[in-house]
Amino acid sequence: MTTVLFDGIKLLYTGDPEREEIEDAALVAEDGLVAWVGPAGRAPDADERVDVRGRAVLPGFVDSHAHLVFAGDRTAEFQARMSGVPYTGGGIRTTVAATRAASDAELATRAAALVAEMRAQGTTTVEIKSGYGLTVEDERRSLEIATGLTDETTYLGAHVVPSGMEADDYVRLVTGEMLRACAPYAKWVDAFCERGAFDGDQTRAVLEAGIKAGLQARVHANQLGEGPGVQIACELGAASADHCTHLTDADIDALAASAPHGASGTVATLLPGAEFSTRSPYPDARRLLDAGVVVALATDCNPGSSYTSSMAFCVALAVREMGMTPLEAVRAATRGGARALRRTDVGWLRPGARADLVVLDAPSYVHLAYRPGVPLVHQVFLGGLLL
Ligand SMILES: [Zn+2]
Repeated sequence: MTTVLFDGIKLLYTGDPEREEIEDAALVAEDGLVAWVGPAGRAPDADERVDVRGRAVLPGFVDSHAHLVFAGDRTAEFQARMSGVPYTGGGIRTTVAATRAASDAELATRAAALVAEMRAQGTTTVEIKSGYGLTVEDERRSLEIATGLTDETTYLGAHVVPSGMEADDYVRLVTGEMLRACAPYAKWVDAFCERGAFDGDQTRAVLEAGIKAGLQARVHANQLGEGPGVQIACELGAASADHCTHLTDADIDALAASAPHGASGTVATLLPGAEFSTRSPYPDARRLLDAGVVVALATDCNPGSSYTSSMAFCVALAVREMGMTPLEAVRAATRGGARALRRTDVGWLRPGARADLVVLDAPSYVHLAYRPGVPLVHQVFLGGLLL
């Protein structure tokens, strides 16, 4: 058993509501877990010592929404959109064609490179979805590749109806043969509930079939317009309703009503990279927070509508564009993401949690928003080990 003392921490953001921030702090890791946190003067002895020399430390970011298994590139679509062509979600089919044509090795190499890119930017837990295969075998292999990179794998056969298929036929496939092939590789089931993708009844059918097969639900909800996604997420006890850009008062009430349920509540996961990259209005995080909704931030990293892997960028957008304070944004990017994945071992630094931590080249986490676009991640420790 090796213990490591991290000291010289100017500001420790623990994410633990009982003492969320500690100035002039220290942290002891033992066998990959946090063993002790507190003021530097009271730190116990340890076998090894890491002096972070006045920097800030926070839990590794938990990116609870990412689409990393894909091939191809949509630079041209982005360029067109920035010249005024509106985003409809239809471009997903471009990525589907490229993904189907790619070898397993190509897909795995690309996804692993994106995970490495995320880790270097302080993300220590990431969720990965399928959704660019849309055949039984292409969805299955996407998830098999994802399981090599994370425990948080999501079956998103219901991303869009593939070209040449009727929606109802495709929903039968997604809830039948495709689900049976994918469930062994997935923890979660997800559906894109949106005009142009899947309606309320179809979304409900997909999620209910997934739950029956032992998966837990999360939903792409209310991204492009108001719709039934958030209500369905709350009704079915989904861990998260993701996007939440266009919400009615009833949607906010439903999310707020689920918040006190803690581990079984539905988190509102906001994905400002998507609004940035589609030049769309941002979700109103202030309205959600003021209503008592639990909010998470995630990248939505995907080649079409949000090709960023940077949680720090999302924190900066949330502060500048969505009415969140730096503290609320960092909380949403760490503990919020963990709650959206129903994890209690990540997203905070308190005894028993994983020693996944980020050392910033700054004295405070506030710099993540104060110095946008600046690479502030000095070091990342995964289970107490330097990456
Ligand atoms: Zn998404």
